[in-house]
Amino acid sequence: MQIADIPISPALAACYAEKGIATLYPPQAECVEKGLFDGKNLLIAIPTASGKTLVAEMAMHHHIGNRGKCLYIVPLRALASEKYDDFSGKGVRVGIATGDFDRRDDYLGRNDIIVATSEKVDSLLRNRTPWLAEISLLVLDEVHLIDSPDRGATLEMVIAKLRYKNPAMQVIALSATIGNPQELADWMDAGLVESEWRPVDLREGVYHHGCIHFPDSDRPVEHRTKHEDLDLCLDTVGEGGQCLVFVSSRKNAEAFAKRAAAGLKLDNPELLEFAERIRAKADTNTEKTLAACVAQGAAFHHAGLKKEERRIVEQGFRDGHIKVISSTPTLAAGLNLPARRVIIRDYLRYSAGDGMAPIPVREYRQMAGRAGRPHLDPYGEAVLIAKGEDMIDELFDCYIDAPAEDVRSQCANEAVIASHILSLIATGFAREHAELTAFMERTFYAASKGSTAALKRVVQRVLEFLRESEMILEVGEWIEPTEYGSLVSRLYLDPRSAETIATTISEVEEYSDIGFLQLLCTTPDMPTLYVRKNDAYYLDRFIAEHAEDLWTDIPWHASEDFERSLKTAMLLADWADEVGEETICERYGVGPGDVYAMVESVNWLIHASRHLARMFAPDLARPIEDMELRMKHGIRKELLPIVRLRGIGRVRARRLFNNGFCSLDAIREAGVEKIGRVLGSGIAAQIFEQLEGERDEIAADAGQQQSTLFHFG
Ligand code: ADP
Repeated sequence: MQIADIPISPALAACYAEKGIATLYPPQAECVEKGLFDGKNLLIAIPTASGKTLVAEMAMHHHIGNRGKCLYIVPLRALASEKYDDFSGKGVRVGIATGDFDRRDDYLGRNDIIVATSEKVDSLLRNRTPWLAEISLLVLDEVHLIDSPDRGATLEMVIAKLRYKNPAMQVIALSATIGNPQELADWMDAGLVESEWRPVDLREGVYHHGCIHFPDSDRPVEHRTKHEDLDLCLDTVGEGGQCLVFVSSRKNAEAFAKRAAAGLKLDNPELLEFAERIRAKADTNTEKTLAACVAQGAAFHHAGLKKEERRIVEQGFRDGHIKVISSTPTLAAGLNLPARRVIIRDYLRYSAGDGMAPIPVREYRQMAGRAGRPHLDPYGEAVLIAKGEDMIDELFDCYIDAPAEDVRSQCANEAVIASHILSLIATGFAREHAELTAFMERTFYAASKGSTAALKRVVQRVLEFLRESEMILEVGEWIEPTEYGSLVSRLYLDPRSAETIATTISEVEEYSDIGFLQLLCTTPDMPTLYVRKNDAYYLDRFIAEHAEDLWTDIPWHASEDFERSLKTAMLLADWADEVGEETICERYGVGPGDVYAMVESVNWLIHASRHLARMFAPDLARPIEDMELRMKHGIRKELLPIVRLRGIGRVRARRLFNNGFCSLDAIREAGVEKIGRVLGSGIAAQIFEQLEGERDEIAADAGQQQSTLFHFG
């Protein structure tokens, strides 16, 4: 089937022609045959890189041509920006839903395509965003993530809610290959397009002792070093390809990149330029190591790195200069970075409770699917490494020949469903028990289990919790949200977090930074740091010095949860106390990317706590508000007045303050020249431009800075 034969706009067809896309891939043609352009729901379960996004894009353009509006739901924020970039500049208006969880983002309604994560869409539903009612095409990217234990229930509920509101809406669900696609398709009243077809031939094999065993042939690999994984990389690079190596931890990723760099020893000006870009911003040893590796053609990639550093590594790899990336498996989920050879070196991963456990088949497929760059590589190779000869067959059985796992609903998990039940009540989806049950029967859980008995028991227990914590009122069959319950739903808080925060702040007598932060770190909404053996001494010393300031009880016996919450709160307190990023990274054993992620998570909780404080502890609202700004910028209280200026972050504000410019008035009085001597003339000019503008503008800007604290894009 030719692009010219399908009903898309000339502008889009021209974009495809420019990229050399003239013919549909076979699974894409099947989508058209199964009603893609006729409003039919479809579940498209095909391998990575076989053209799912393109199918969705064509459907969206066709739809927009018929005056429809499209919502594209992605699982990760990083993917939202990637898709936003993909869809932009092709003659339609594209928006990305960012910003706070308690906003309606009405302005986004002007767009034809809106890209958002499932959490953001859920929060928009809770805040009754009007344009959601106009969505007539829903695209669900990576819909198999319905079975993710922590986030799957949100995706499932969002699908159920959107379809409940608008049953006529077309749904296009994109999925990796899964075990039970028909079951999922049936739930969505969708036709199924299932295929193993790939644009580049994928060969999957197991390496052992100098040879890759493929199902129908063997391929020898020359021994060059004493490391088999490195030999596999050098082999591919030697024949002009690139390599992605998946390992189980950040430490392993870094160690492998160092080894690969030493093995490759490449030397060219482009690599030096990429390395220099990283080195210029490097604060920590990890970043300096990354720059040194990149200079020789290898890199590592994980969540501990800063976003910009990851971008530089990705670009260096896409441009073909960086030859090897070693990374943790989290990378496989988001990044579209194909390579000729993918090495799945570590297929065991530590998971709490299970110790070292094999990764699921679906995860293996996701990594393996990155092998082979269309139009560039003659083939792709995915290689597992066997530790012994007896492992070769086992790896074939467990991964290469194994069927993908079934997708299972997470809606019967009491811990994750409480928030959704509250939101169903608070937003009027369910006003009585029967309505709540009827709604829950629309879930994938109910559809796939056939029985809702377990679900009903969970719902009863959740209602009991919500009633006892006074988030809902029950009168006979009727269920009403209280003001508190509605607020919690709008703030997008887990009701258990809200209850912990509300109960504690209404009891404490005096505000303390560490007391407040540690409280937030005990809630299920806050990810916490791992506690190492040698942390005990510092934690104990800290407790001895700050016992009075803590708001939660100090347990008599060692408690991992308590220690984790305290350690995380100490990191956050250091950040808000202007401790340098490098010191924080060393002290807590984290990377700059982790600090950023922690600060971002806690920012939302601080913001939500401010609203709860207004209701339960008005005296604490002000110090919490200060902490909100302090955490955002990583500054002590004394810098608050200066940091309200645009372009002034923690470092510049401190420099101004230490030079005696402690307020906007002091800066104004000093004049542009003096400030220029401290910060440079360019930034000083910018500051004075702002100061010369109306004072009101600064105040308004400060307000805006606050309300965009939690960017979600
Ligand atoms: P997926 O979403 O399944 O990972 P994409 O839609 O992103 O796959 O497609 C992967 C790559 O293949 C993209 O670079 C895309 O432009 C290209 N592509 C998609 N469909 C075609 C086609 N019919 N012909 C040529 N290239 C295509």
